Amino acid sequence: AETSIENRLDAFRQRWQGKVGKMLIGGEWREAESGETFSTEDPSTGEKLADVASAGDADVDAAVAAARKAFDGPWRKVKPDERAKLINRLADLIEANADELALTETLDVGRPIQFSRIADVGGAISQLRYQAGWATKLTGDTTEISAPGEWLSYTLREPVGVCGQIVPWNFPLAMAAGKIGPALAAGCTVVLKPAEQTPLSTILLAELALEAGFPEGVINVITGYGRTAGASLAAHLDVDKVAFTGSTQTGKAIIDASKTNFKRVSLELGGKSPTFIFADADLKKAIPAAAMSIFFNAGQVCAAGSRLFVAEEVADQVLEGIAGMARMLPVGRTLDPSTVIGPLVSELQLERVTGYIESGRKEGATVLVGGGRKGDGPGWFVEPTVLVDTEASMQVRREEIFGPVLCATRFTDADDADRLGALGNETQFGLAANIWTRDISMAHKLARRLKAGSIRVNGAGGVDPALPLGGFKASGWGRENGRAGVEAYTELKAVSVALD
Ligand code: NAD
Repeated sequence: AETSIENRLDAFRQRWQGKVGKMLIGGEWREAESGETFSTEDPSTGEKLADVASAGDADVDAAVAAARKAFDGPWRKVKPDERAKLINRLADLIEANADELALTETLDVGRPIQFSRIADVGGAISQLRYQAGWATKLTGDTTEISAPGEWLSYTLREPVGVCGQIVPWNFPLAMAAGKIGPALAAGCTVVLKPAEQTPLSTILLAELALEAGFPEGVINVITGYGRTAGASLAAHLDVDKVAFTGSTQTGKAIIDASKTNFKRVSLELGGKSPTFIFADADLKKAIPAAAMSIFFNAGQVCAAGSRLFVAEEVADQVLEGIAGMARMLPVGRTLDPSTVIGPLVSELQLERVTGYIESGRKEGATVLVGGGRKGDGPGWFVEPTVLVDTEASMQVRREEIFGPVLCATRFTDADDADRLGALGNETQFGLAANIWTRDISMAHKLARRLKAGSIRVNGAGGVDPALPLGGFKASGWGRENGRAGVEAYTELKAVSVALD
């Protein structure tokens, strides 16, 4: 049975107040060697939640050394089915601690309580259970094709080694699970760094990993700022791969830092994903889906449908429908069970997002609904906002806002897939796209033309760990999830044996 919110809040305070959140390095809980800490706040209230260790170079060195020792030693000897068992055990422990994890995510991230159980805790569990299966499924190939009878050649998939994993603040627990799951399944060891805004659920995850029985040093967690701890991890000479999710700008810094030793790099970056609604679409479904695609999590979703292209014939109806939802969706404190739209993660993001809305106004867009901060604090709330009459040249159409701001445009050339594809591809990004039409051929034609890693037709939903996730163009390098995602934690080696 679920414990009441009040009891859970009491437990949360007892867990964190007056203590320093420590880092898990080589199986030990440690503060930063410098003794430095930083604090994390509840975006709903601006109140401080906890102090957490702030890692520097020395702590990164220690964590990487622990991960190296585990990789070269005990973890190598753990058989694949045993790795799968450990990953599944971690998933079970997350399930058993779902209440605490969900509340922690709600407080630290600003996720409305009605979503944290399913999106965060549920997302983490499904990731780990899916990835655990790969531990026993990864194989190489044999081939004799080029020289039958003369050579026997085969490939080996070996774990890439020590992995630095850096995640953003919007889905810390589910993303941490999505990062460590495939790495551990492939036989790698990890040093994981949550975002400085949201470190708490990752610390709990590390506690559960210890309880699950992973050998020391296999999973290390360091907390700290990007420009210090993150940069140090990305540049570290003994890290074999860095897996990063975050902004496109930081992605560039990761690429630069990785040059030190040519480490493998995977990047899941920003987006500016289009939603297309055609005149023949099922509007009863398309309208709420298009609205939630940009308003869910206050727009702080990499794949948010932030540009809407709507057929002229239905544009008034669709825009009025979305505006109606923007007015109706309950925006408020995350512990209120009726809240659908919570705050942005920080005051800085509030300033960024409201700044973008202003820039849209200045460049000639019209605010159909919303248009600014909601209330005057405490808490970093922004009204769900729809901008109409937007042009391709506008900053709000080109850049990722990462807030609940939809840029809408009408189209008339509904049968021209080339023209619509070009509209969809107009930005530097290429993460996702949504298509709503009953014309099956048009849906397939447009899906072909869009440069986007994930395309949905006539439906909406969250991350499926079985499907590759990632971006074209400036939205990233490589894919996470699915077979491609776990294979990205391996090195492929070809061995050839002469038979004569
Ligand atoms: P960010 O890039 O500022 O931070 C992400 C992480 O990188 C944090 O852990 C941060 O501490 C760290 N970091 C910052 N600077 C660093 C540096 N120089 N070296 C190493 N690490 C560094 O991003 P953010 O503002 O926290 O997150 C929002 C962005 O993340 C958005 O652009 C969003 O689109 C993107 N995102 C992408 C996906 C995806 O799957 N493609 C998912 C979620 C978020």
